[in-house]
Amino acid sequence: MAHDIVIRGGQIVDGTGREPVPGDLAIDGGVITAVGRVESGGRREIDAQGQLVTPGFVDIHTHLDAQIGWDPACTPVSWHGVTTALLGNCDVTFAPCKPSDRTATRGDRRERGAQLTRSKTARRPCDTAGMGIDTRSA
Ligand SMILES: [Zn+2]
Repeated sequence: MAHDIVIRGGQIVDGTGREPVPGDLAIDGGVITAVGRVESGGRREIDAQGQLVTPGFVDIHTHLDAQIGWDPACTPVSWHGVTTALLGNCDVTFAPCKPSDRTATRGDRRERGAQLTRSKTARRPCDTAGMGIDTRSA
């Protein structure tokens, strides 16, 4: 039976902290189904000689809140292996958002997003951003 994808000959990093091991990896239906030596072929084969095969990376501090509107792939962080990115750091976020500010996320998102980030979000107290904390009284 052919796998959907077989990645061959890479250095497999399993995410546990162990040293990388050479091997293959098979994927079926979006799930890793074999790691080690994969005998069966794949409908798609990827030669990973000289490459690391790793789990996705989690980036817990990004400023992609505006960018994700015009670049859903969040480049270049996705090119670097990031598969999960947390948004809303450093008071730079569009959600939750007052209805009157929702137009800032439409149209020319790059410029409107930059404007919102610079002018509104930074000055908005946390209670209106949905956090229930107003740092002005601290
Ligand atoms: Zn930050």
